[in-house]
Amino acid sequence: MQKLSIFVLLSFFTISLFGHTSCFQHTCQHTEFRKAPINSKENNVNYPTDYFRSPINGALRLSGSFGELRSNHFHAGIDIKSTIGGSGQAILAAGDGYVARVKVQAGGYGNAIYMRHPNGYTTVYAHLSEFSPELAAYVKEQQYARQSFSVDLYPSAGQISFQKGDKIGKLGNSGSSGGPHLHFEIRDSGTEEPINPLLFGLKVADTQAPRLHQIRVYALNNKRETLDARSYDIQKGKTRHYVKGDTVYVGANQAGFALKTYDHMNGVTNWNGVYRISMYSDEELWYQFTTERFAFHQTRGINAHMDYEERVTKKSYFNRCYLLPGNQLPFYKNVINRGVVQLSKNKATKITMVTEDISGNTTRLIFWAKQSQTQTAISEKRFNYVLPYDDESAIDNGALYLYFPKKSLYETLYLDYKTSTDYSENVHSAVHHIHNSRTPLHKYCDIAIEPTTLPSHLRDKAFVANCGKKNSITNMGNKWKDGRLWGKTRNFGDFCIMVDTVPPTIKPQTFQSNMRGKNRMTFRIDDNYSTGGSAKGLDYRATVDGQWILMEYDAKNDRLLHRFDGRIPAGQHQLRIVLTDAVGNRREYEADFTR
Ligand SMILES: [Zn+2]
Repeated sequence: MQKLSIFVLLSFFTISLFGHTSCFQHTCQHTEFRKAPINSKENNVNYPTDYFRSPINGALRLSGSFGELRSNHFHAGIDIKSTIGGSGQAILAAGDGYVARVKVQAGGYGNAIYMRHPNGYTTVYAHLSEFSPELAAYVKEQQYARQSFSVDLYPSAGQISFQKGDKIGKLGNSGSSGGPHLHFEIRDSGTEEPINPLLFGLKVADTQAPRLHQIRVYALNNKRETLDARSYDIQKGKTRHYVKGDTVYVGANQAGFALKTYDHMNGVTNWNGVYRISMYSDEELWYQFTTERFAFHQTRGINAHMDYEERVTKKSYFNRCYLLPGNQLPFYKNVINRGVVQLSKNKATKITMVTEDISGNTTRLIFWAKQSQTQTAISEKRFNYVLPYDDESAIDNGALYLYFPKKSLYETLYLDYKTSTDYSENVHSAVHHIHNSRTPLHKYCDIAIEPTTLPSHLRDKAFVANCGKKNSITNMGNKWKDGRLWGKTRNFGDFCIMVDTVPPTIKPQTFQSNMRGKNRMTFRIDDNYSTGGSAKGLDYRATVDGQWILMEYDAKNDRLLHRFDGRIPAGQHQLRIVLTDAVGNRREYEADFTR
């Protein structure tokens, strides 16, 4: 381990923060400004616009756009609606190529095909209900060979090939999809970076301009720490959008701005993401955000782009138009002073924000920002550790150890920490209140907790518990080392040691002793605690007469499913399913049935 920055202040300190104060009026003036062109040439990449076809027949209608803001990630593709309604629509190869990867998993992309094309791009088709017969046979053979439902397969070049327009599968709702649709991506085959598929000439009807909802104004101190943040509704005028009174007053000489905006397309009611946001300060291009491409290891950085606290507390998604110190995202061009605007008490700064969709429809907001005359309100923050955003940090007070790798934080953190005692029967350590869940963490951090009341016979059943909202408890890991229990976390909140002695449950759904003429059997499985961090998920294994059988696991519906495909012959059989949770509690289910 390299240098550790350890800041342990012995008592609670406070820092003073300047608040917002009174305002005075300002008169507006209108001037024209140039519009930035929309094309991909800024990156000197000419994406082929006549190579790929649409992966479905019929009009392309999107329920999700590339780069739109999601929780903890930017959307890596476009979500295509079924034109026939529901699952089952044929999914077509977007170009000639071979299947370079097939992945099956209980969550995430569900059933997904990755096709590699000779032009250097890879297309991805996710949440499929079925693979084409040839691909399905290959996947099932591999699942039986590996005795695993979830597989991540890399067929060799030419092993399974398709031509443009061939049926490769069916549109579905597998994995963590919230309704039948096709998640479609185009990636650079070399870097695996997803690129906006609409830069490849796919046509979507969109004559509607993006809508603007709110701005958020941040008063920043000379270290660019937020002193105060306020939201303002955006009003729609005849020639432009504006905020009431036209001028916002900021209790500091520097400000950052954020914008809540969505795009709307023809024939759908979905609120999709915009392609570009440009911000001008006194007519000078000051900041530009374009959802062209990114790398998957960067995507969690969305929590620096968004106002994370607004997302967590209000489900409100603001695009921050200035860059936090730890923001590493690749979406920004033409950014001056990291998007931070200097303000004056004497002269208002004109701020123009333009959002564009990829079809070129634009909406413009103009307002003025001015430093307020007096800065009287002071708020105080309690903290007892300072974690610099540009270094690793460790905290160790005996009862708790925390390690934050470099680039865990987007801003220097004044960490608030306290402990309390919870006398509940199942709490076996102090409860460590580690800052708050409104602050983002980019990387997994190590957390180790010392037990207080844990009987030795329960040590193997203990886990690091993250106690969230509405009494939700998540197992974050359960490894013993040096007398402390270790886990990992990517969020702040309340942590303690708890014990799990309750095995998972399994209930037959469509299963009975006579299964003649049935095409499937399903079971509902459940466990008392969810898992995260370094904890393992629920593990299962199903056999018939001692032979492994494929059970598809649908995590969002807590369901195991076996499709009878002739592998189990007619006659009397014994089914056995073993479920094991993260701390090794086992449930065994046995039943006889006839085929
Ligand atoms: Zn999607």
